[in-house]
This record gives sequence, C-alpha cells and structure tokens, in this order.
Amino acid sequence: MLRAAFLWLSEQPRIFRFVRKNRVARKLASRFVAGETVDEAITTLRDLNALSASLDLLGESVLHAEEAQRACKTYLDVLERIHRAKANANVSVKLTQMGLDIDEQLCLGNTRSIIRKAKQYDSFVRIDMEQSSYTARTLQLFTDVFYPEFGNAVGVVLQSYLRRTGADVDAMIGLGARVRLCKGAYKEPEDVAFPDKRDVDANYIACMERLLQDGNYPGIATHDVAIIDHAKAFTKQRRIPAERFEFQMLYGVRRDLQYRLRREGYNMRVYVPFGTHWYPYLMRQQVHGRPPAFGAADGQAYSVATFADDAAEAGRYGAALLFVRWGEGERPVGHLETDYLAFGSTPNEALAPVLALTLEQVKAHLDECVSRAAH
Ligand SMILES: Cc1cc2nc3c(=O)[nH]c(=O)nc-3n(C[C@H](O)[C@H](O)[C@H](O)COP(=O)(O)OP(=O)(O)OC[C@H]3O[C@@H](n4cnc5c(N)ncnc54)[C@H](O)[C@@H]3O)c2cc1C
Repeated sequence: MLRAAFLWLSEQPRIFRFVRKNRVARKLASRFVAGETVDEAITTLRDLNALSASLDLLGESVLHAEEAQRACKTYLDVLERIHRAKANANVSVKLTQMGLDIDEQLCLGNTRSIIRKAKQYDSFVRIDMEQSSYTARTLQLFTDVFYPEFGNAVGVVLQSYLRRTGADVDAMIGLGARVRLCKGAYKEPEDVAFPDKRDVDANYIACMERLLQDGNYPGIATHDVAIIDHAKAFTKQRRIPAERFEFQMLYGVRRDLQYRLRREGYNMRVYVPFGTHWYPYLMRQQVHGRPPAFGAADGQAYSVATFADDAAEAGRYGAALLFVRWGEGERPVGHLETDYLAFGSTPNEALAPVLALTLEQVKAHLDECVSRAAH
C-alpha cells in the first residue's frame, strides 16, 4: 500500500506543485470555507463588514431526490436567515445540486422555490455555471423558464474559457439578464474551451467590455489584477458609474484587494462557500498552487488528498486519505495514510464516501494517523 501511495503521488503533479510560500498553506481550510453549518455561514457574513456576499452551499451532482430536496431546504433557510440578519447577501445555486441529473421537473421545482423566496425578500439567486456538458441546458432553462418567470431576481454565469461565450454574452445582453463573468473552473476539452490561458484572458476582457458597456449590472468575478485594472480604466474612460457593476471574488482569496476596491468606491461581493462538501471545492482551488493545509497535533502542516488502488481482492478498489507533510521547502517531506476507509467496484465508487467526509472527520483521521506514527 505504501508503494502504491508513492507511485500514486508521483503521478499527481498537482500534489508536487503545492507551493508553500508565505505560510499560506499552513492556514486551515477554514480560510476558504465559511464552515459547515448555516449558523457558521451567517456568522461569517457579519465579519465581512462592508462587503456584500453570495452564499453557496457546497455540493454538486446529487444522485438522490432527497439530497436535492435537502439542499433546497437549506437554501430556503439561508434566505430566511439573511433576511432576518438584514445582511447584504444573496445566494448562488448549482442546478445539478437541485437535481438536474435526476429529473428536470424536480430541479425546476426546487430552483423555482428558492428564486420565489429570494424575490419575496428582494434578494437574488445566481445560477452557477458547471462543466461545459451543462452549459446549453443551464442557459436554456434560464432563458425559457427562470428569466421569464422571475426577471432580474435571477442571474446566470458565463465562462470566458468557453469558445461559445462571446455569443452567449450577446444573447444575455439582448435579454437584459444579469451575468457573472468568470474564467471557468473545470477541466474542459479543447474543442469547447481555449487551451491557452492567454486566449481565456483575452476573451475575458472582450466579454467584460461588452457587459460593462451594455450589460445589466454585470459581476466581474476575477482575482486577476491586470483585468481588474482594465475594468477600472475602461469604465472611467467610458464614464460608466461604479454603481453599474460589481467586482466579485472568492472568500479568503486576495482579501487585501477586496477591501481596497471597496474603499475605492467599487461594489465588491464575496462568494462564500459553506457546507460539508468542502473537499472537491478545495481540490479545484489547488489548481492555483495554494493547498489548504491542516495544522496537526505534532505541530506539522499537512495537506489532504485521496487515493484509490486495487485492494487485495481482484476487482475491488479501496480508497483512503493521504496526508502530505510539508517542510520549509516546496516539496513534500513525507506523508501519512489511513487504512482503506471504503471499497467499491470502481475507483470512483470507492472514493465517493471518502470525498463526503466532513472537516471534523478528516481532522480526526489525521490525528489518528499522527498518533499512530508517533508509536
Ligand atoms: C465570485 C466567483 C464566482 C465564481 N463562479 C464560478 C462558476 O459559477 N463557475 C465556474 O466555472 N467558475 C467560477 N468561478 C471560478 C473562476 O472560474 C476561476 O476558476 C477562478 O476565479 C480563478 O480565476 P481568476 O479569474 O481569479 O484568474 P487566474 O488567472 O486564475 O488568477 C489570477 C490571480 O489570482 C490568483 N488566484 C486565483 N484563484 C485563486 C484561489 N482560489 N486561491 C488563491 N489565489 C487565487 C492566482 O494565483 C493569480 O495570481 C468563480 C470565481 C469567483 C471569484
């Protein structure tokens, strides 16, 4: 198992690319996730001071109707709590979390009830954009159902890495719909997405200019300083007032810049994820080379990963947690691993329960590994 783990590690360039500059990696995962409960998320809103927020219940692609209904109920609760707290916040929702992969009617019912409640409270629902296989369906449901029924109580997201996005920007401007523009967070095939980051950035700027000029209160969602400076210069030159758009960034990322933009008079919204399904979200963040790491009982920093390999019996896979220990350099200095925590007939099936572990459960596994290693 040890050898398999090392082999696995060596095949995971992301793990080796973990950069440990400025002690960022020593910070807890809580830097990027506002906690696991609605209470913790609402408390986080109070700490954001003058910044507005969009709350996102972590989790996507649910497989059972009850899960989708539970997620929907949590969103209704969140909207109620935002309203009572008089917080300057709205919500972001993923259609797969509302049951899109299970039954479209279920998804429509759940999403409608969230938007209805948001509209009742003068709030807003942003439909997040997921992988490119969902783009056409998401935009079709938005254009044919949500927007006609709820108007600007609902908005959508477009991703500049997709080749189709220029045309989608025009369509959304034609509709008068509110758009959040981001670069895109998923791994996509070259026929649908630009493989070269320069093209993604150039397309971002082109789409952003269109939206700033003619769009309806666009959300400029990026941490890219060059693009933010471009937006500032462009709006100044065209005399587009700062109230006509907002900047958006992720909770815990470039906080200095978030407050600076607010002080300069720009609207700044922070995307605040919360919930137990934090692991896949943090894994996506690692594309940027900043691994969230746990401080363990032995005083060392560990980042967390998962792996699945052939368990002893043929045709069966086992999945475990792997804790990578970091020294002062930029390479791991060791690792600890749990026993197999779950089994399945495919690696994904084995991994599913491991990916669903809560933050507390992962910390408990780390403590157990550390104490086992000490004996
Ligand atoms: C408010 C908001 C909502 C989003 N919604 C969606 C969505 O619905 N669908 C979707 O596919 N994607 C979404 N994203 C993610 C987005 O698509 C990008 O993957 C992500 O924002 C990184 O791109 P960037 O524009 O910041 O530029 P990049 O060029 O990737 O980064 C610019 C700079 O910011 C730093 N940086 C960027 N991200 C991080 C991070 N997480 N941690 C630390 N530093 C970082 C980079 O290191 C770099 O220095 C959203 C992003 C934001 C901010």
